[in-house]
Amino acid sequence: MVKVVKFGGSSLASADQFKKVGNIIRAEESRRYVVPSAPGKRFSEDTKVTDMLYKCYAEAEAGKNFDKQLKAIEERYNEIIKGLGLKLSLKEQFETIKKNFESKAGKDYAASRGEYLNGIIMANYLGYEFIDAASVICFDPEGEFDGEKTNKVMADRLANVEKAVIPGFYGAMPNGEVKTFSRGGSDVTGSIVARAIKADVYENWTDVSGFLAADPRIVDNPRSIEVITYKELRELSYMGATVLHEDAIFPVRLMGIPINIRNTNSPQDNGTMIVASCHDSERDNIITGIAGKKGFCSITIEKDMMNSEVGFARKVLSALEQENISFEHLPSGIDTLSIILSEKAIEGRHDNILRILCDAVNPDSVFIEDEIALIAVVGRGMRSAKGTAARTIGAIAKADINLVMIDQGSSELNIILGVKENDLEAAIEAIYNEFRHK
Ligand code: ASP
Repeated sequence: MVKVVKFGGSSLASADQFKKVGNIIRAEESRRYVVPSAPGKRFSEDTKVTDMLYKCYAEAEAGKNFDKQLKAIEERYNEIIKGLGLKLSLKEQFETIKKNFESKAGKDYAASRGEYLNGIIMANYLGYEFIDAASVICFDPEGEFDGEKTNKVMADRLANVEKAVIPGFYGAMPNGEVKTFSRGGSDVTGSIVARAIKADVYENWTDVSGFLAADPRIVDNPRSIEVITYKELRELSYMGATVLHEDAIFPVRLMGIPINIRNTNSPQDNGTMIVASCHDSERDNIITGIAGKKGFCSITIEKDMMNSEVGFARKVLSALEQENISFEHLPSGIDTLSIILSEKAIEGRHDNILRILCDAVNPDSVFIEDEIALIAVVGRGMRSAKGTAARTIGAIAKADINLVMIDQGSSELNIILGVKENDLEAAIEAIYNEFRHK
């Protein structure tokens, strides 16, 4: 059994948190490859080291004196080193960082130092080998992540390494320039390492005991999800449920490696298992989770006999394509076609878009409706449970909420609903309560 264990910023924010992490790693021999984030917040008003680094580098880039800011960052690390009682000094590293900031090594380089330094401390604390992510995570010359090359380089490098710490969040381009993933990207690094060493499990340790079936700010005491499939998770994350970086699923998905979300502050909890597929015959829950997001709008096009007009939808879509606008959903009736898209995609261009669509298909009417929220009701159990859509819509109706659109995916994994933004919270609550007891 081999596990890759990734620890988020809050799990490594202080020496006390590091000690919890040490205990977790030592509790199982299989926890052989460790991916740390940079130190996060110790309390709610605190600043993450990554944010301190971005700020400090901005000063350096503007040619200002950044000594004070860099010192404050060094202090954060020294506090951890001292609290762990380690004989380790990062003086040299900080001198190098200072020089590189002065020579404007780049924003990504600056941010990556958070994970780099935390990795050095972690390796020293555990007695594991330190492997600089710049040597094993490869980006191409355009700065795009190169998954196949990385997989090979990483697998070769780790082949004979029993236990290692590989800092999260960054890698390097062929010319050696450091490049980071987007924020929260240490999750992606963990997944890449898991794929390369063909881990049995990728444990992602954070500060919650897994995913909840709905947002606890909306629903009273939602249950936590024990098992969720990659596909279900994609649907929920897309609608705003965030615990894991969106791209973290892809590397492990290729190998069918499960991700286990765990809580550093409550290691006895099983957390949530994210799996490729699961054949639970006696499912307790039809719905795995519900998530919703605001910021959408709809364009509705009406035209008599639209249905028999060959190429109608294509003309509409190619008009949007020419404007470089992507859409989310396309529910249609006999003589109407609606396009749901993100408000941002057409911000400030409403009149222009309406005109283009009129030119393209000469409709009887076309109008844009703003302030729409989408809700994803997701569950692999839907396939075998009759009447899920009816119950969902019924719950919305009972709550006296107007439904703007409904779209059931052909995979029968989800139902997407559109409501007015003001109704989002009440709608999620109503649906959750409808399925609360199965
Ligand atoms: N430290 C980085 C961030 O704050 C990456 C991570 O924590 O995953 O975004």
